[in-house]
Amino acid sequence: MLLIPCPWCGPRDETEFHYGGQAHVAYPADPGALTDEEWARYLFFRDNPEGAFAERWSHAAGCRRWFNAVRDTATNRIHAVYRPGEPRPVTG
Ligand SMILES: [Zn+2]
Repeated sequence: MLLIPCPWCGPRDETEFHYGGQAHVAYPADPGALTDEEWARYLFFRDNPEGAFAERWSHAAGCRRWFNAVRDTATNRIHAVYRPGEPRPVTG
């Protein structure tokens, strides 16, 4: 069981959350100027590191808010959570 600390509700079981993919993927500034290949890269290509990874999560069965988490993909340990608009915390 993984406990995920919602920034508003505190630690809750992972079954209350939905995964939202990589955090900090910026929408293209001029989407009409993108080629099909650039669109495909924006829509489908994501980082896949072994180690710390910033992700989006939704507390779907709780406050229903979105937030970001830095999770180690190798150990599943969550190093930090932060609200949208807040900078990614420095994690060791
Ligand atoms: Zn919550």
